[in-house]
Amino acid sequence: MPGGVSSPVRAFKSVGGQPIVFDHVKGAYIWDVDGNQYIDYVGTWGPAICGHAHPVVIQALHEALEKGTSFGAPCALENVLAEMVIDAVPSIDVVRFVNSGTEACMSVLRLMRAFTGRDKIIKFEGCYHGHADMFLVKAGSGVATLGLPDSPGVPKSTTSNTLTAPYNDLETVKKLFAENPEQISGVILEPVVGNSGFVTPDAGFLEGLREITKEHGALLVFDEVMTGFRIAYGGAQERFGVTPDLTTLGKVIGGGLPVGAYGGRADIMSMVAPAGPMYQAGTLSGNPLAMTAGIKTLELLRKPGTYEQLDRITKKLSQGLLAVAREAGHEVTGGSISAMFGLFFTGQEVHNYDDAKTADLKKFGRFHRGMLERGIYLAPSQFEAGFTSLAHTDEDVEQTLAAAKEVLAEI
Ligand SMILES: *Cc1c(COP(=O)(O)O)cnc(C)c1O
Repeated sequence: MPGGVSSPVRAFKSVGGQPIVFDHVKGAYIWDVDGNQYIDYVGTWGPAICGHAHPVVIQALHEALEKGTSFGAPCALENVLAEMVIDAVPSIDVVRFVNSGTEACMSVLRLMRAFTGRDKIIKFEGCYHGHADMFLVKAGSGVATLGLPDSPGVPKSTTSNTLTAPYNDLETVKKLFAENPEQISGVILEPVVGNSGFVTPDAGFLEGLREITKEHGALLVFDEVMTGFRIAYGGAQERFGVTPDLTTLGKVIGGGLPVGAYGGRADIMSMVAPAGPMYQAGTLSGNPLAMTAGIKTLELLRKPGTYEQLDRITKKLSQGLLAVAREAGHEVTGGSISAMFGLFFTGQEVHNYDDAKTADLKKFGRFHRGMLERGIYLAPSQFEAGFTSLAHTDEDVEQTLAAAKEVLAEI
């Protein structure tokens, strides 16, 4: 396996050392193959919002398993999850299930183009929308708006239609629309960023994008693969009160099994085959096991008080980390919304990827290692958000803060 992992974010390249190999998970904890236990703040990158291996989900999976693992034909569970997603997410009237967030984003991009008849898109620097060619554009300094590819193997011709702007920068978005009249199909973004560390939208940013896209006959797409059912039950669009035209989902809606989805306004979604001419398909899409895990996870999440609990425990952790770090004399910035948090080792406020890059990566590496040695598993990169779950207790947070206090005094 290249680098010993099945996905590069699991490697420890940016923090040093070797990745830990795990054996099993339960609640807020994760155990490695040597039997060491860790408090987990990665949560399989988001899906484990109810806690790992929740008994309700596991029991339902056992029952679903008895009925078989794949039908390759309609399964009533798809309708159940579809209805839950449509009820929850303000922008979604019609939804299509796929198998990953990457697949959801590449499909939505095709749909944006098919519906508008325009080829260009705007994405933001530091936002991740899966690894499809058109999204792998490194938005950096002078080459930002040229759409130069971020990875070998991605032809310039593929990314030449991908325009980029710094996050939270409406002026650049307006300029791109002015320079490319009637050529931009839409704007895609993480409404709260988790893929350049945790970065929140400035007041008016999401509203501004809604206005600009409307004005230019372009679509607004929220990539809520990470934020969907995490920032709020209805996602960031519910929390911030801004409704996009299309939305992508993943992670939480699969409850730990491979699922993605894209959906939105009925008139746009009616373009998708077989209702319309835009082709997109999947052998395992709507898989009964994945649908089951998703349904049970959403059932657990929609109970009253869930998001208040997630907000409270995450704020306690996030505010605690900031306080402990500052007491130890470190310059830090960070915060949390619902079950998502971030901590940057920089004195600067972080509004975009360039700000995030002012963080002291070496110091983060030392912090990560120290925490790991004390049984706290954080994402092995300064440019990832942290995740909590309903299984994280006050004691877990207190133990984490005690560990952080020791580590931050040493580094
Ligand atoms: C994780 C993620 C993706 C990609 O999802 P995969 O299931 O890993 O393919 C896309 N967009 C965002 C915002 C994500 O966080």
